[in-house]
Formats: sequence, structure tokens, C-alpha cells
Amino acid sequence: MYETIALHLKSSANVTVLTGAGVSTASGIPDFRSSEGIWSEDETREYYMSADYFFHDPEDFWKKYKAIFRMKLLDGYKPNRVHDFIYNLEAPDRKVNVITQNVDGLHSKAGNRNVIEYHGSLRGATCPNCGETYRSEYVMAVETPSCAECNTYLKPNVLLFGDLITAHDLAERAIDKSDVLLVMGTSLLVTPFNMLPHYATDHTKVLINNEPTGSDHLFDYVIHEDLSQAVKEIQKYFI
Ligand SMILES: [Zn+2]
Repeated sequence: MYETIALHLKSSANVTVLTGAGVSTASGIPDFRSSEGIWSEDETREYYMSADYFFHDPEDFWKKYKAIFRMKLLDGYKPNRVHDFIYNLEAPDRKVNVITQNVDGLHSKAGNRNVIEYHGSLRGATCPNCGETYRSEYVMAVETPSCAECNTYLKPNVLLFGDLITAHDLAERAIDKSDVLLVMGTSLLVTPFNMLPHYATDHTKVLINNEPTGSDHLFDYVIHEDLSQAVKEIQKYFI
């Protein structure tokens, strides 16, 4: 099956890759949203990490946000073999779109050019008033970052509970234009991200995850395997 998947990828002009936490676990990043992720440690976190709470008490919000995500550590994470594999799918005659649930920024760090961060990014923040964007260094320099232009408290670039998902239409359009859909490292449990494979109608659909998912039946090829191991197998046929 690995050889067949490699052939489909090699002959594709436009691949869309959907990724989830499983892609980043080999980089040592905890799975933020799963049942074993940080939300289950303390159920009040979902309340504190909401858009409502941010606008209610931005100072306390930022204190908790920085504590929960240990943002200072984020730059220490590096792309792993799976990110590199996805980056290496890019070729002069093959466009690769990555639509990720991960908020760690590692697909861009690996070099991918077309990355849709479906749940936003832990990197940086944006002024909710004037739209000015700021890098992580600026955000980390003070306890509660505010906009240098208009003095409004900045809002992190990660999607908070209660925020609208603005990337869904963009993601749907990317899938429309591609011919292969490759889903990696997600059990497709989070709505509406798990709707995306349904938009792939005439596509060759491949799912690689370390365990069975409730959406396995939607795919032409399904591999249950450790992701690092699976990409190693596919790469053998990629020369
Ligand atoms: Zn501003």
C-alpha cells in the first residue's frame, strides 16, 4: 500500500494535507485539545481560554494564557521527520496545501509555503481594534501586551473558545483545487475540521493515523501506523 500511496502523491499536481496533533507529538509537543490534552487537567481552562474571558479581563487572561502554553518554550520545538516529509512533497510541478489543526507553527518552520492554520497559531498576537500584528518576542516582553498604535490589549493569534473559525472557506477552496487528500495524525473528532474530508469528492483520499478513526470508511487508503514509520516507508518509493 505504501508504494501505491507514493505513486498517487508523485503523480499529483495539487496535494492537500490535513494534519493534527499526531504530526507534532514526535517534536515533543503535547496534544492541546484531545481528551488527554491540557483541557482535561483542569476544566476551568476552557472558560479562561475563551474570547469572552479575554474581553472581560485581558490582564488575567494573558497571565493564564502564558502559564498554560508556556509560550517561552515554543521556539525550542523543531519540525520532525513528518513535517519534513510534508515539506518535501512540494515540487515545481506539485503544489502542496497544508491545513493544520496544530497551533505550533511547525509546518511553516519546516518550509511549507501554503499553510492554513485552522485553529490559529500560538505565535504572535493581533490588535482586535486596528488589526496590527505583533511577533512573539513583543508579546513576551511585557505581562499584558498592548498595541503600540492604539494601546488596545492584544489578542493571541490562537483560536480561543467562542472565536469564529475564519479559515474554513479557505480550506474548502484548497481542497477543491487538489486531486489528492492526505490526512495525517488526526482522529478527525473535532468539528468542523472533521467535515473537510467530505469536500474531497473525486480525490484520491489517504488517511495515516496511529489508531483507527470513526472516519476510516471515507478513505481509499487507510494506514494505522506510527507516522514517522509510515513516512519512512513511503519515502522508499519516492526516489
Ligand atoms: Zn491597535
